[in-house]
Parts: sequence; structure tokens; C-alpha cells
Amino acid sequence: MELSRTVELAQKLVRIESVTPDDNGCQDLIKEILKPLGFTCYTIEEKGVTNLLATHGRGSPFLLFLGHTDVVPVGDESSWDHPPFCGDIFEYDGEPYLYGRGSSDMKGGDAAMITAMCEYIRQNQNHIGTIGLLLTSNEEGDAIGGTPYVIDYMKERHMIPTYCLIGECSCDKIFGDSIKNGRRGDMNATINVHGIQGHAALEQHAKNAVFEASRFIQGMLDNPIDNGTPFFPPTSFQVSNIHAGTGADNVIPGSCTLRCNFRWNDSQTPSLIEKHVRGVAEDLNIDCDMEFREEGKPFLTKDGELIDALYNSIRAVSGVTPDLGTSGGTSDGRFVRPLGTQTVEFGPVSDLIHKVNERVSVKQLDMLHEIYLRVIYQLMIHKPITEE
Ligand SMILES: [Zn+2]
Repeated sequence: MELSRTVELAQKLVRIESVTPDDNGCQDLIKEILKPLGFTCYTIEEKGVTNLLATHGRGSPFLLFLGHTDVVPVGDESSWDHPPFCGDIFEYDGEPYLYGRGSSDMKGGDAAMITAMCEYIRQNQNHIGTIGLLLTSNEEGDAIGGTPYVIDYMKERHMIPTYCLIGECSCDKIFGDSIKNGRRGDMNATINVHGIQGHAALEQHAKNAVFEASRFIQGMLDNPIDNGTPFFPPTSFQVSNIHAGTGADNVIPGSCTLRCNFRWNDSQTPSLIEKHVRGVAEDLNIDCDMEFREEGKPFLTKDGELIDALYNSIRAVSGVTPDLGTSGGTSDGRFVRPLGTQTVEFGPVSDLIHKVNERVSVKQLDMLHEIYLRVIYQLMIHKPITEE
């Protein structure tokens, strides 16, 4: 089978074991492709994280592609059908797939962004404005030293992207079905519910903290935080962990610890959510203390030229009409959007990311390249500059 440049580059990247935060040479390989085309490449290292910022041209409009070279660990290697870093092509349901950890999250997307940029530059050396790429090796980790660090670096140098397109997996069931134009915020809470410890047979002298915690949970389920907004689902409440008890069967627990997670929409702030949660506990007379930790803010791009260009290109290449959505986990787009940059994500179908036997459709990668190239053509001004 004849493979495209995009698929061949994705294969090379998958074959490099780059588990967070170790880039392990992925970005060097990419620099070797970009430099001969005239890209200026900055390698920005911080706290063991490697970042690559590459730009071509200057001024606005500034279209930035955003991605990452790190991957999550493979887990139990024996449960994979093939070596997780083989980067080979196998057939699934009669279709070719590129196999390996990071193939869909997101070295396939990286490759499609890079080959689209390169093709555009080869055809338009004298374009107006800036086209660029930012890759980090700490997206799957805590992001420290990664994208937010480079964004500060860019701000200091007045390099503010007009548009940011992120090649993360965004599609739900079929290729082309969804663009992510935002993501929900993320917040955790630890809630210690207090009761009175006692003998299981002398319940009149005790207050079971598990019962108190369950009253609180029911109170939260009965009082939703909000009903959602035009672009976002309702703010969610989840209990991710419960701990109580001394280990003995005959002791009523005097305390119960809940760990909770909230995915919040653009009508909320961390303090509004905290107020709501404390209110539920107070109304039910539940004795507890709470600690809240914000993990990420929501972001949203309602409309604009980037969404229009992407929407048209997806329809033209895949024949599918995409929906706009904000579901799923958070992404590094949260660090770019506060610059005022139109920020959206579009990439392959997301059903296999972080899983055993991760793979990505070869056909989807080739369509992705075509879509990105069309987006570049619609957003950049590519008339050659006429010299005086
Ligand atoms: Zn990713």
C-alpha cells in the first residue's frame, strides 16, 4: 500500500517512545522537516519538559497549530495485540489502521498538521501573516513547563495567535461529526463529613457519618448546580471516592471522606459552585468541612472565521456536517483561548485514545491533512507580496 507523507510521519513519531514528559527526540525529527522550509524553530525547555515553537512568516493573521508529542503509558504490554510502539499498519474491519500508543492521541493529528503546513508553505513561500506550530511534551501530565509556559513566552514577545487549531481527537462516532469549540472547567473537592463514632449495637449514642454523607449526596442529586447553557451541558457533580470506617464490623464510623469532581460550564465560577455545595450541606444540617481545588477553567469560541473555515472544509472533504460541542475532558486550548484567540479542536474519532490497542484510521489521517490544508488556504492571505 502506498502511504502518504502524513501517515509515514505519524508512523515515525509513534515509533518513538515518548511517555510524558519525555519527548525523546520527536520534536527534533519535526524540526528537521520544518527548518529547510524556512520555519524559525524555538526549543523551549523547562522543568524536564520539551516544547517546540515553530513559525513561518510574520505579522497577522497568525494561525497556530497546537499539539503534543507525549503519550500516556502503555500499561500491561501483554494485553496489546502488537508491540505498542511498532507503528505498523493493520486491517480492522477491512480498513487500514496505524497501530500504537499515541497514534490517535495525538501523533496522527500532529503529522496531519505538519504535512498540511509544509504543503502550504511549499506552494506559498511569500504568504502574508504567520503560520506556526506549538508542540509540548507535557499535555498528558500536569502541563507545568508545557503549553502555559510557552504561551507566557509568546505573550512577552507579542506573538498572539489570531486562530488556534488543535489536532486532538474530536469526532464522536464518524469522522467529521464534531468540532470541539470549547471545553468544560474542572474542579475537585474533598469533603469530610462528621458524625459520632460508637458501638454498632448502641446506635442511640452514635451518628453514622456514612448515613450523613449519603444524605449530602442525595441533596446534591436533588439540587442540580445549573441547567446548562447554549453551548454547555449542566455542570456535573460526581463522587469519585468514598472512605469511612475503622475496619471493624461493630463500629459506627465517626467520619466519612468524599472526593468529588465537578465539570463546570460557562455560567459558573469555582466560588459559585462552592457556595452551592456548602448551601446544600447547610440546608440539610450536615456537619462537614470542605476543600475545593480548581483544575481548569472552561473556554469557548462561539463563532468566527476559524469555525467557518473548518466547518466548510470538513463538509467538503468528508461529506459529513459537523456539530459544535464542548463535551469531553479538558485540553491545552484552555491556555490559548484567554489570549483572545479563536480556539477549536478537530481531529480523528476519539474512541480508542488511552486504550489498549490504540490505533487511528489511515483514511482519517489523510482526510485530516486535506481539511487542515483547506483551512489554511481559507484563513491565510496567500497573494505573493509585490516588492516595490
Ligand atoms: Zn491528547
